[in-house]
Amino acid sequence: MTLLELEGLTASYGPVQVLEGVSLSVPDNGAVGILGANGAGKTTTLRAISGTVRAGGRIVFDGKDIRGLRPDQVAALGIAHVPEGRGTLGDLSVRDNLRVGAYLRRDRKGIAADIDFCLELFPNLQDRITSNASALSGGEQQMLAVARAIMSKPRLLLLDEASLGLAPSTAKNVYDAIRHLRLTLGIAMVVVEQNANLAFTLVDSATVLETGRSVLTGTSAELKGMDEIRRAYLGG
Ligand code: ATP
Repeated sequence: MTLLELEGLTASYGPVQVLEGVSLSVPDNGAVGILGANGAGKTTTLRAISGTVRAGGRIVFDGKDIRGLRPDQVAALGIAHVPEGRGTLGDLSVRDNLRVGAYLRRDRKGIAADIDFCLELFPNLQDRITSNASALSGGEQQMLAVARAIMSKPRLLLLDEASLGLAPSTAKNVYDAIRHLRLTLGIAMVVVEQNANLAFTLVDSATVLETGRSVLTGTSAELKGMDEIRRAYLGG
């Protein structure tokens, strides 16, 4: 079953059209990457899905066209967005950031159990549970941003540049944890990532954007084998 389908997605900032036809299909439990150069429209695609940018075309989630819904309505359907720059709340503790992630939920026992689950998944956060988010390292903040998103019990996670600004070993740890999360919870994901090598450790397939258009889609194995992908995104 397909969980999310983008068809001919378009979007503009004022007079400047930045998406001109993005197509993408995410199966239930699948993880799909979006690759592309700076400015290709990757972040805007995620914003269109989460309702923070107005879009044209079709955005079908779980069989319903959700284009035009407000961000809170999209979130309530089970789509959680981990934005570039992480968006954790610096003045709040790690625990309170996790609670904020669960703000739509009323099951107190379930929330407590899921906080424990997140702390098992990201043991660094356990050690910093009472620290303000602003006191965490970049890698810890990224883990907190993912954990906070998980607290809403999403069916689909939108992940924007989770490796940005992190040392390579830290980025790998973050991706290892996200992969574990994917295997454990079976959450579907759309993964925007500059570092294609890292993306391919997590996603089953990916689409390549060029100036706001999907130009190539394939499985991770197919894409890794293509010379133009290797040259453009894999450092050789
Ligand atoms: P990056 O990795 O640099 O974030 P991207 O592929 O995610 O690149 P987008 O951030 O989606 O690309 O940006 C697509 C285009 O839209 C770029 O040309 C960018 O300069 C422009 N853009 C992005 N945000 C805005 C905005 N708020 N107002 C005007 N133009 C914007």
